[in-house]
Amino acid sequence: MKLNIDGNFKYYTFESLEKIDFIGHCFTSRHGGVSTGYLESLNLGFSRGDEPENVDKNFDIVCNTLGVKKENCVTLKQVHSTKIITADESIKGMGFRKDINRIEADAFVTNKKGIVLVTFHADCVPLFFVDTENKAIGMAHSGWRGTADGMAAAMVDRMKDEFGTKPENIKAGIGPSIGICCFQVDKPVVDIFMEKYKFADKYIVNDKLCEGKYKIDLWGINKEILLEKGVKADNIEIGGICTKCHPETFYSHRVMGEKRGTMGAFLFLK
Ligand SMILES: [Zn+2]
Repeated sequence: MKLNIDGNFKYYTFESLEKIDFIGHCFTSRHGGVSTGYLESLNLGFSRGDEPENVDKNFDIVCNTLGVKKENCVTLKQVHSTKIITADESIKGMGFRKDINRIEADAFVTNKKGIVLVTFHADCVPLFFVDTENKAIGMAHSGWRGTADGMAAAMVDRMKDEFGTKPENIKAGIGPSIGICCFQVDKPVVDIFMEKYKFADKYIVNDKLCEGKYKIDLWGINKEILLEKGVKADNIEIGGICTKCHPETFYSHRVMGEKRGTMGAFLFLK
């Protein structure tokens, strides 16, 4: 992944996705917005206790840099599910303002231009999908629960059903989120992964510093799920940036708890 700077606004992009001329994308940091206090400064969440005008302005800052209209953004009421919706004109603008009701889901797909898919993150894994053949995209919020429940696989299946996407034509990005360095869990979470995935033990280690605790590599598990679905290894880019390791750059739920803002993963067809 690469860091981009536009004035005070700092954001990340995948080198592999930047080469695709018919899409735009980014993952925001906490820098370059107008929110203050623990929300400093680019909070994109309406439910974090921020002034709605601040969140509005922060969306403007991101949208100006991306060259898109805020009114074309769609967001979801994320509930750690694997529910995916197909975004079309009827939901344009959904959720870029607090007063617009949002659908409960954690991912969306579209092949319509001008709809900006936005998912919210603060440690949970953002998954970007681009079908380079059929010009379709997908954006998913996949925390440990979503990863355990197979969000990445569900996205490949959904794009196949909706757009005839072939896995070998998918380029995927696994964005900034909590890394194995920091994602410490208890045995019950380990058991869930071990039960679900044959390969899980490759991505789970004992926490050497903490007896009875484990660490899980959600990036590796998501990549392995995509490989099993037929996505090519060369077409999967792992950002490799841990949000908990860099609280000065990112909001991290594990570091800050509820007193934190929210970053956005943006993806759209031009
Ligand atoms: Zn870390």
